[in-house]
Amino acid sequence: MALSISYEDIVAAQQRIQAFIHQTPVLHSTTFDELIGAEVFFKAENTQRMGAFKIRGACNALLQFDEQQKKQGVVTFSSGNHAQAIALAARELGMRAVIVMPEDAPKIKIEATRGYGGEVVLYDRYTEDREAIGRRLAQEQGLSLIPPYDHPHVMAGQGTAAKELIEEVGKLDYLFVPLGGGGLLSGCALAAKNLLPQCTVIGVEPDAGNDGQRSLLSGSIVHIDTPKTIADGAQTQHLGQHTFPVIQKYVDAIHTVSDRELVAAMRFCASRMKTVIEPTGCLGIALAMQPAMNLKGKRVGIIISGGNVDIQRFAQLLLE
Ligand SMILES: *Cc1c(COP(=O)(O)O)cnc(C)c1O
Repeated sequence: MALSISYEDIVAAQQRIQAFIHQTPVLHSTTFDELIGAEVFFKAENTQRMGAFKIRGACNALLQFDEQQKKQGVVTFSSGNHAQAIALAARELGMRAVIVMPEDAPKIKIEATRGYGGEVVLYDRYTEDREAIGRRLAQEQGLSLIPPYDHPHVMAGQGTAAKELIEEVGKLDYLFVPLGGGGLLSGCALAAKNLLPQCTVIGVEPDAGNDGQRSLLSGSIVHIDTPKTIADGAQTQHLGQHTFPVIQKYVDAIHTVSDRELVAAMRFCASRMKTVIEPTGCLGIALAMQPAMNLKGKRVGIIISGGNVDIQRFAQLLLE
């Protein structure tokens, strides 16, 4: 099957979104390097606008709307960072944004989405299907639907995070990327393998929801129930029709980490690097901390995907 995106789409995305996003810093910790015996470069998307890489894909998608689409606006379904990213990107571009969110989503997320100017439509996650609601609103109101990960423009936008990282630090032996539905991983793997064909690209997901790992091993998309994990950005039930073929072609392996390992990584980053990272954002760091990875003497890039965690919740997790 032909892939939905090429490296040139990532190059074009980088140009297109440059003025709308932060070029995030690459962090370095001597203590972390000594701990695992490697040289590690952290791409700090927790300091990205709205607190996660998702603004990259959202901007890349909305900036390619035609005049008619711009006039009508965008709709999406998400309770997480994609909702805020679409709301913010739409506001910047003077567009209407409708966001379908579960009525029991954290108030802080609903408020944040409204704060960026998004019109929130609530639904009951136990009796209603968010994708069906999104499609219905799109049809009734002429809105364009931009899903959280399974869209070529979203994937190309997310890939700019790895491209920026590699352009700044050069050669890497490994790249670790958090994995939910695979928008970030597919884009980053495509960028990395084009710039550094020798770089081993590894996706990292919570062990409670290892559908990505099972999909890669079995050769077809595995569906699971919503996994119970603190990594709420990776509580996806399956990879996408667009993301999976790219992951199959460019990703070397998918590994998993436990919630306990995520908390240990959050604690390290808070205490030693003075950095707030949400649980999902720690997936790559937690993998690097697994002794079995044996990264001695290697150059390792890690995408820190986001930092949006309620501060009380953050404190609670660190004290557990
Ligand atoms: C959405 C998200 C992910 C997962 O991204 P996918 O493109 O769905 O794989 C990882 N980390 C954070 C912080 C996210 O918001």
